[in-house]
Amino acid sequence: MKVGGGKVWYTAAELADMALPGLPKTKRKINERAAAEGWALATGKVGEPLARPRQARGGGLEYHIDVLPAAARTTLARLGVTVVADVAAEPESRATQMWRWFDGQSTKDKVEAERRLQIIALVEAQEQVRPHLVVLGNAAHSLHPIAGQGYNLSLRDTLALAEVLIDSEATLGDFATLQRYQQRQQLDQQVTVGFSDQVTRLFSNAQPLLTAGRNLGLLGLDLLPPAKRWFARQAMGMGTRNL
Ligand SMILES: Cc1cc2nc3c(=O)[nH]c(=O)nc-3n(C[C@H](O)[C@H](O)[C@H](O)COP(=O)(O)OP(=O)(O)OC[C@H]3O[C@@H](n4cnc5c(N)ncnc54)[C@H](O)[C@@H]3O)c2cc1C
Repeated sequence: MKVGGGKVWYTAAELADMALPGLPKTKRKINERAAAEGWALATGKVGEPLARPRQARGGGLEYHIDVLPAAARTTLARLGVTVVADVAAEPESRATQMWRWFDGQSTKDKVEAERRLQIIALVEAQEQVRPHLVVLGNAAHSLHPIAGQGYNLSLRDTLALAEVLIDSEATLGDFATLQRYQQRQQLDQQVTVGFSDQVTRLFSNAQPLLTAGRNLGLLGLDLLPPAKRWFARQAMGMGTRNL
C-alpha cells in the first residue's frame, strides 16, 4: 500500500519556487505546462482527480504530485517534503482509494455529497394512487440498497395490487379499489422502508460507543436465535406477514 506522508498537493507557484528537475522554474511556465498536459483534468488509477481547488485563499488549482514528472517526484521524496513508500505487497483496495480521494475534497463538496446521499437514500411518494393510476417500484419508494429490499417490496406491492383488483367487482381503475391496495400495503412499505433506513443509519455511523453497541447487538443476535430470526424476517421484508 502506498502511504503518503507530508505534502502531496502543490500550487503552480509552490512548484516554481522549489525549482524541481523536469519542471519549469516560473509560475507562468508551470501553468503553461499544466495547460498543455491537461493537469486540471488528469485522473489517478481509480479515476480520482489529480487537481483540486486551492485549499488556501486566492483561488486557482493545486496539483497532486502524481501529475508531476518522475524526476520532480523523486526530488520531492528525497527532500523529505513528500514521503511515498510501498509498505505492503497488497494493492490498496478501490474503496480505500476512493475514501482517500473523498477525504481530500473540500468541506463544501463533502457537505454537498452528504446532501445528495440523503436524496438517494430514501424517497417515498406522498401519493401512490389516483383513479386509473398506480405508482409502483422505486417511483413509489426508493430505499437504500443496504438491505436489498427495493425490488422485493415492489414485487409484494404488485402481488397485493393484483389480488385487490381480482377481488374487486368495480370497473378497472376504480379509485376506491386502488385506495384499498394502498391501505393494504401501507404497513409493509412503512416497516420495510423504516427498517432499511434505520439499518443504514446504524451501520454508517463510526461513533465508538455506537460501534461497540452495534457489535454487542450482532453478538447478541448470534446468541439468541429467536432474535436473529426476527431480525432476518425484518431484513427479508416479512415482518408484516404470517408466512
Ligand atoms: C446496488 C443496488 C442493489 C440492490 N439490491 C437489491 C436486492 O438485493 N434486492 C432487492 O429487492 N432490491 C435491490 N435493489 C433495489 C432494486 O434494484 C430496485 O428497487 C428496483 O430495480 C426498482 O425497479 P423499478 O423498475 O421500480 O426502477 P428501476 O429499476 O430504477 O427502473 C427505472 C427505469 O426507468 C428509467 N427512467 C428513469 N427516468 C426515465 C425517464 N424520464 N424516461 C424514460 N425512462 C426513465 C431508468 O433508466 C430505469 O431503467 C438494489 C438496488 C441497488 C442500487
